[in-house]
Amino acid sequence: MLAQNTELISKLIFSKSAFGRVTGCKVGQIESFEVGTEVRAQVKGQIVIATAKQMLDQFIAFRKSGAEGLQSQPVFSGVYEVYNPKKGSGWKVTTKKGVSCECPDYAEVKKAFGTGVCKHCYRVLQDLGWGSLQEYLGQKPQLRLVPARKPVRLEDMKMQQLKDLAKEIGIGRPAGDKRFKKTWIEAIAAAQQPTADLDLLSAA
Ligand SMILES: [Zn+2]
Repeated sequence: MLAQNTELISKLIFSKSAFGRVTGCKVGQIESFEVGTEVRAQVKGQIVIATAKQMLDQFIAFRKSGAEGLQSQPVFSGVYEVYNPKKGSGWKVTTKKGVSCECPDYAEVKKAFGTGVCKHCYRVLQDLGWGSLQEYLGQKPQLRLVPARKPVRLEDMKMQQLKDLAKEIGIGRPAGDKRFKKTWIEAIAAAQQPTADLDLLSAA
């Protein structure tokens, strides 16, 4: 079991700035701020609430989205330089024994949870093909092959099935006469994706 510091966790997850991002409130307008099983704040005389789940989701989403504008570059085996082109700053991320970064956010997360990642770590993990720290540590690859649909020939489908399938794959209006199965079959055949798909959804 990794050491956790509940006070620090609370400070990191239930921060006013995170609350502002969840609720759309301006931090400067928060008059009172109370953390319990949920976050309850008074903002311009009104009570605004964010659930613990929303705050935790925000904690992860904020770091994941922060990774988007960053660039990683391998320095040598297991060591990456992660740049923020907008700020011109860079941090060193190491992928030996888990993932770690030299930035202050990582230090805080690590101190609070005993493990975890910052946006720089997310950049490197994502560049290596992992969706999350959990996936990386569990060596569960992010790219999974989605099993192919049970093969049913388009020709054997009923009109309604064809229409449903077309809708599912994003065909609103096929070119041609919609009364004929042939029109739908041609549109679906033209638009059908390869059966291998990227499953980018992952737990944090
Ligand atoms: Zn970092």
